[in-house]
Amino acid sequence: MRVLLVEDDELLGSAVQAGLVQAGYTVDWVHDGVDAAQSLTFDGHDLLVLDLGLPRKDGLTVLRELRQRGSDLPVLILTARDAVEDRVRGLDLGADDYLIKPFDLDELTARLRAIGRRRAGRSSLSIRHGNLEFDPAARNLTLDGEAVPLHAKAIAILEALLECRGRALTREQLEQMLYGWGEGVESNTVEVYIHHLRKQLGKELIHTIRGVGYMIPKEK
Ligand code: CA
Repeated sequence: MRVLLVEDDELLGSAVQAGLVQAGYTVDWVHDGVDAAQSLTFDGHDLLVLDLGLPRKDGLTVLRELRQRGSDLPVLILTARDAVEDRVRGLDLGADDYLIKPFDLDELTARLRAIGRRRAGRSSLSIRHGNLEFDPAARNLTLDGEAVPLHAKAIAILEALLECRGRALTREQLEQMLYGWGEGVESNTVEVYIHHLRKQLGKELIHTIRGVGYMIPKEK
């Protein structure tokens, strides 16, 4: 999952970025509303964590413009304790959830996972597929109840394919999800991790859709 973090406070922003990376997210961080709006025209993010008090353009305006464009990107807003009106307006403008500063990083990642579950129409905490079970909170994968050790990026690919079973993701979509800005993307990274996943989990799990990308079919 690739997150766009919009936060002008250096200390808070770097703590949130570190916490999200630790939780398995790829994070792009911008510091003001104009940069946020620009970044959002590029359609590579899965989640938006949006501070409301921002220089150059406030967060509520960023959110309103995003929804006016018809984007349904999941959004969690960050607000000050006394800003009840902002929270209400944010939710009415289409935010999925909010957190009041100061907040605990564990609560942020738990809320982002909850948003992901709601978006995927899933109420159970773990994702099950055949004899596979993936726990997004612990980043833990088991096959027939046995833990499968895999690189964090391989797990991120598997999670993305499991979350949208029955739909193919392109190699470019998977690369965008794995790498933030300024990180060098090696050309065959996705293929390498798909290879690892197939080796550990069986060849038939992930299908190659010729000319499109990769897919895990829905269970019958
Ligand atoms: Ca702020």
